[in-house]
Amino acid sequence: MTPVTLKSSPCQDKCNWGPTDEVYEDKPLFACGSCGSQWVRTESWTPKQLDGSVPPGVKEEVIIARPWAAFSFGND
Ligand SMILES: [Zn+2]
Repeated sequence: MTPVTLKSSPCQDKCNWGPTDEVYEDKPLFACGSCGSQWVRTESWTPKQLDGSVPPGVKEEVIIARPWAAFSFGND
C-alpha cells in the first residue's frame, strides 16, 4: 500500500487556506483552494493567505504543535 503524502505546491501568492473534512494521521487536514497544497500541524511550515495572514483554523493548530510560534502571529 502506497503511503499517503501531503501535497505541497509553490503557490505562495494566491493561497486560500481552509479546513477540509479529512484527517491525516489523526490530525485535521487543511488545504489550499488555489494550489491544492495540504497541511497538518506537524508540518514544519505554516500556511499563509493571500494577504500574508495565517488562516484562523491553522493558527489554532500551530499553537497546539508549536506554542512558541504563536508569538510570531501578532494580533488580528
Ligand atoms: Zn496555495
